Amino acid sequence: MKKGLLIVLSGPSGVGKGTMYSRLLKTLPSLTVSVSATTRKPREGERDGVHYFFVDKDKFESMRANGEFLEWAETVGNYYGTPKAPVLRKLSEGSDVLLEIDVKGARQIKAAYPDCVTVFVLPPSKAELERRLKGRGTETEEQVKARLSLAVKEIGESDEFDYRVVNADIDTAVAEVIKIIEKSKNGICKNDSNRNHL
Ligand code: 5GP
Repeated sequence: MKKGLLIVLSGPSGVGKGTMYSRLLKTLPSLTVSVSATTRKPREGERDGVHYFFVDKDKFESMRANGEFLEWAETVGNYYGTPKAPVLRKLSEGSDVLLEIDVKGARQIKAAYPDCVTVFVLPPSKAELERRLKGRGTETEEQVKARLSLAVKEIGESDEFDYRVVNADIDTAVAEVIKIIEKSKNGICKNDSNRNHL
């Protein structure tokens, strides 16, 4: 059976990856999710096992020590990790798997699975990113500051991704990622001179 495609969607916190992720899952029936583990506390409306597996630091560290993560990272004060077994099982069954993870995690995945496709989502501007982060109202001012300064660093490193997509308009950005996935599934992406500049 043909192996599935591993797609990594990354980019600064607040850029709209989460919304793009949900839209992609709705639009492309071939895509499956990976539920990450995190030590972050649930936000209102988030459910354990659906949005994340919410675990404490000890549990996360024991999972990490047991080699249960495909990748993991500490970002903005919390641990996040992608459980390995379900992702590898889905790929071997021929399903495509979409990961929504941070830049450090994306780097680990690319190194371990070079055939994956990595997409970095850019905000139209830093001011707009700040507006979106503040508008979300889920972080303190201090946390917004930390997320913004990390965003600047991550944007500076984004040319190591296979593709970069600007999320100025959600419909356009989602359509671009769908195009990237379709091209990659057709094996076009490897020798594509337009790579990085869709
Ligand atoms: P949030 O706390 O806003 O849900 O997520 C914060 C950051 O962690 C986001 O950039 C998100 O993409 C990233 N993230 C979520 N799950 C994972 C994961 O399993 N691994 C890594 N490396 N990053 C993750």
